[in-house]
Amino acid sequence: MPTYKYPYQSKLPTVPTSIFAIMSQLAAKENALNLSQGFPDFKSDEKLIELVNKAMVNGKNQYAPMPGIFSLREAIAEKTENICGVSYNPDTEITITAGATQAIFTVIAATIQKDDEVIIFKPAYDCYEPSIELFGGKTIAIQLNPEEFSINWQEVKSLITDKTKMIIINTPHNPSGRVLSREDMIQLENLLRDTNILLLSDEVYEHIIFDKEKHQSAALYPALVERTFIIASFGKTFHNTGWKMGYCIAPTELTKEFRKVHQFNVFSVHHPTQVALAEYLKTPSNYLELGSFYQHKRDLFLSLIKDSRFQFKPSKGTYFQLLNFKNITDESDFDFAVRLTKEQKIAAIPISVFNENKYDSKVLRFCFAKTDDTLKKAAEIINRI
Ligand code: PMP
Ligand code: GLN
Repeated sequence: MPTYKYPYQSKLPTVPTSIFAIMSQLAAKENALNLSQGFPDFKSDEKLIELVNKAMVNGKNQYAPMPGIFSLREAIAEKTENICGVSYNPDTEITITAGATQAIFTVIAATIQKDDEVIIFKPAYDCYEPSIELFGGKTIAIQLNPEEFSINWQEVKSLITDKTKMIIINTPHNPSGRVLSREDMIQLENLLRDTNILLLSDEVYEHIIFDKEKHQSAALYPALVERTFIIASFGKTFHNTGWKMGYCIAPTELTKEFRKVHQFNVFSVHHPTQVALAEYLKTPSNYLELGSFYQHKRDLFLSLIKDSRFQFKPSKGTYFQLLNFKNITDESDFDFAVRLTKEQKIAAIPISVFNENKYDSKVLRFCFAKTDDTLKKAAEIINRI
C-alpha cells in the first residue's frame, strides 16, 4: 500500500484503540489466561443455540422489522412489567439493537447536540465519552472515590447547568462491581424531577447482582421512567457476547427519536436470534438464576485468592472483581497488566483507562465469567504473584 495521509482533522483525535482489544490481543499472543475483556469462556445454553438454528432452518433469514420482531419486544415488556411493575408498550417503547453498544451510541446520536453537557461517573465504560464527543457534546466527568465508588449527589447537583442534557448511570457498575442503592435512585429522582434532563441508564448487568441486593432499575422510579433510555444486553445475560444483541426501552417520544437514528445506523438486527430469544425469554429462570450462578463464581474465585498479596472488596454485581496491587509493585496499572500477561500468563484490565485523567489507583479488573477450572488456574497464578 502506498502511504496515505488522512488529510482532515480527526473527529476523535485523542481516542486510542480500546483496552479490551489491546489486552485480548496481547493475551492471545502470549498464550495467557484471558480474564481481561468481559466475556464467558463457557458455552451458552444448548437450548438457545438450538432455537437460533431452528429459526434459521425455518427461513427467518431476511430483514427483521426495523424495531425488532414483535414477539421479542412483547417478551421484554412482560419481563420488565414482572420485575419492575411498569408497563412499556412493545409497539412504541421497545427497540431491539445490535448489543448495548449500538443502543448507547444511538441514544447519544439521537439526543446530543453541539455544546450539550452530559454528566458521567468515572471510572466509566469506555464507549460513552467518544460517542458524546462525536456529536459535539461535552462530557462532564465526576471521578468517584476509588475505595467506595459512591456518588455524592450534592456534587452532581452542583455540576448541573442550563446546558446539562443528560446523565449516564451504570448499575451494576463496570468496572467497580458497585451497585446503586434505592437511596441513590431517590436522590437522582429528586434531582431530575423538575428538569428536562434525560437519563441513560446502562443496565447491562441487571441480572448479575449478589448478596440478595435488588437491582435498582430506573424503571422502578416514575420520575425517572419518563425521561430514561434503559439499555440492556442479551450478550451479558445469556453468555453470548459475540451475538451482539440488546435492546433499548424508553417512553414513546424518546423511542421515536431513537428509532429515527436506529433505522439508519443499523436498520434492524439479526433476525433468527430474535426469534430464538423471544421463545427463550418465556422461561424466567433463564435470567432470574443468573445472580446465584455468578455469585458462586465470585465466591469461588475470592476464596481461592484470599491469601494472595492482592487486596479486594467483594464485587456486588457484574462479573468483574477489582484487585488492588499496591502491596506488590508501584508500577503503573497498565505496565503491571502487560507484565503479568507476558510473564505470568494472566491478563486483566488496568482500570486507569476508565478514570478521569487516567488516574491510577493501582487496581486491576479480573473477569470471573469463567469455568471453575479456569478460575482455579487463575487463582494459582494470582497466588504466586
Ligand atoms: N455497557 C457496559 C457497562 C458494558 O460492560 C458493556 C460490555 N458488555 C456494554 C455496555 C456493551 O454491551 P454489548 O456487548 O451488548 O454491546
Ligand atoms: N464489556 C466488556 C468489558 O467490559 C467488553 C466489551 C468490548 O470489548 N467492547 O470487558
